Amino acid sequence: MRQLRLLALLAAAPLVLAAAPATEPALSGFSDASSRVERDWEAKFRAIPDPANMREYMKRLSARPHHVGSPYDKDNAEWILSKFKEWGFDARIETFDVLFPTPKERRVEMIAPTKFVATLAEPPVAVDPTSNQQSEQLPTYNAYSIDGDVTGRLVYVNYGVPEDYDRLQRLGVSVKGAIVIARYGHSWRGIKPKVAGEHGAIGCLIYSDPRDDGYFDGKTFPEGPSRPEAGVQRGSVMDTLYVGDPLTPGVGATKDAKRLALKDVEVITKIPVLPISYGDAAPLLKALDGPMAPPEWRGALPSPYHLGPGAAEVHLVVKANWDIKPIYDVIARIPGSVYPDEWVVRGNHHDAWVNGAEDPISGQVALLEEARAYGELLKQGWRPKRTIVYCAWDAEEPGLLGSTEWGETHAEELSKHAVAYLNSDSNGRGYLDMSGSHTLESFFNDVARDITDPESGVSVWRRLQLRLIADAKTPEERKELRERGDLRIGALGFGSDFTVFLDRIGVPCLSLGFGGEDDGGIYHSIYDDFYWYTHFSDTTFVYGRALAQTTGTAVMRLAGAELLPFRFTNFADTVNRYLGELQKLLKGEQDEARERDLEIEEGLFAATSDPRAPTFAPPSEAAPPHLNFAPLENTAEALTRSAQRYDKAVAAARANGGAVLASESVKAVNATLLGVERATLDPAGLPRRPWFKNLLYAPGLYTGYEVRTIPMVREALEQRKWDEAEEGIVRTAKVLDNVAAVIDRASSELENLAR
Ligand SMILES: [Zn+2]
Repeated sequence: MRQLRLLALLAAAPLVLAAAPATEPALSGFSDASSRVERDWEAKFRAIPDPANMREYMKRLSARPHHVGSPYDKDNAEWILSKFKEWGFDARIETFDVLFPTPKERRVEMIAPTKFVATLAEPPVAVDPTSNQQSEQLPTYNAYSIDGDVTGRLVYVNYGVPEDYDRLQRLGVSVKGAIVIARYGHSWRGIKPKVAGEHGAIGCLIYSDPRDDGYFDGKTFPEGPSRPEAGVQRGSVMDTLYVGDPLTPGVGATKDAKRLALKDVEVITKIPVLPISYGDAAPLLKALDGPMAPPEWRGALPSPYHLGPGAAEVHLVVKANWDIKPIYDVIARIPGSVYPDEWVVRGNHHDAWVNGAEDPISGQVALLEEARAYGELLKQGWRPKRTIVYCAWDAEEPGLLGSTEWGETHAEELSKHAVAYLNSDSNGRGYLDMSGSHTLESFFNDVARDITDPESGVSVWRRLQLRLIADAKTPEERKELRERGDLRIGALGFGSDFTVFLDRIGVPCLSLGFGGEDDGGIYHSIYDDFYWYTHFSDTTFVYGRALAQTTGTAVMRLAGAELLPFRFTNFADTVNRYLGELQKLLKGEQDEARERDLEIEEGLFAATSDPRAPTFAPPSEAAPPHLNFAPLENTAEALTRSAQRYDKAVAAARANGGAVLASESVKAVNATLLGVERATLDPAGLPRRPWFKNLLYAPGLYTGYEVRTIPMVREALEQRKWDEAEEGIVRTAKVLDNVAAVIDRASSELENLAR
């Protein structure tokens, strides 16, 4: 493997360094002349990032635990600030004061049928030099769990997502008055205590099953990368009604901001919750009896998985210090030479749960190396046309606090000035993860075609395309992957610092990172550190360099384009797909409800129940009504026409070497284009969570990480709120009409210029 990597590196080097041949087509948004200049600068840029530097930055930034409120968190922010300044940025730290609970008391004990006290501790590992910094490590806990002291019978709920509770009902198991034990995975962790509480549970334990990131994948740390027996995933469990500081929803957590009283905070969990290792979970699960868990619910622990409740009774205590802590966002700028009022914003957080070499430092070191490379280019005479803003966020881990408070504080400016926000978080070996706003899908594909994959020597775009073809399930999927031209990018929901930009301010976002070849089980544990990363992940930092090259190229290109390189045909295509999905979802729910009713009527459930392991009929629910999708269908068609017209206008403007693009008057078109993504916002926001204003993308209220596209309609369908679904169709159609109108305005402006 190592040898292969070396060969690939050698093969890749000339490609990285070679200047662009003169025959290459002009970059999207550039005239021929400026495209050549841009390509030259980009090639120079891509030759600069150095894996050895990234290794040094990581060593320094992950040397000690650096969670919110710790001395090393502040120390890191100041060090990052000094680097930005050294590289010629205009940089400063912006401070906010946020609610950040830390553990005061934690206890998990089994009181029946046998006694067992959970260790709730991650032991140091001899070969790993930072794992013994216990005096500075945050204990294992879930931030924003409510304080509680509860005793109850234990029930195993699989991943603890809503479908799991439907299944429990069928199996005759109730969690009322119980403490549930759920395994990590298949949802944002905060969903687990939320859904458990809604079903009447009084406490929640979340553990890492070895099936999901432990020995089932291979050797455990330190012999291998997987989660060791005592490894625990810390993490926030804040409800996603809004993100950022729980005390200041919608406004920046500045010194004198108006703050909610703790008792009025809705995003703290309703029941106490604590994460545990599989070492601590094994005796608890072993003590369960009751029905066997369904086969797909069983993990990789050696004893049978029963559901409970039975004799196993657990006592859970969680108490926190509910303190306000300062956080430090490092913000650095290079002013634009032509459009200083248009900002390209790039960020990655710097805080971690513990040492956090992978999360977030592996992303942060790429960001820093991009910044250093810009410093080099500035010395050589390069000037970005637009202002570049680099952000090292604090307090992402507890709930995206650093980016959200900054975004809320500067919302008005960002709404006026932000062209795009590019985020990374962690990085590893493998494939480029391409997600973001679909107005940038085509642009993102173009950038990925220009970056060389360090392992295979083909472009990162080509490698991803071939991976997707290998994984495709149908001939149609393979055909599309080969013939569509652009690869589809995933939509963004939640889970990193792009959230405030996309969901609240309507800034087009991209999320970048490599991965897929590093199995591992150190996420949010003390073992996510320099030793682990340099033994088991991107050990030579060549993917760190690839990330810096990819993101840095994207930032430069966005900052240098004469016409902003948005493309709306991809966007319209995606909206049409989402519409199709919604119609299919409704049809599926109707069919399912009818089938279930028929089965109840036939007596299927009673007749097939095994008296020794009885199962129960699901509740009968009325079939969903037919809904009128016409407003969305009409608007989606109109959007497609607007997008096609814009494509034509751009093609006309590019005639004669794109002289029109190079003219001063293209400025007005750019100003209009800034309004396209903003138009996806509805000031009223989503039902029950008005903080979220984007009617195209939102995190799922019951999935968290997983995005809900056209969320007002989709979530209403999922939650059987038919009136709300109809209202959502109308409101989303109106928003998309506004989007189409802005695109049309940009088209006429461009058409007038080309005339
Ligand atoms: Zn992170």
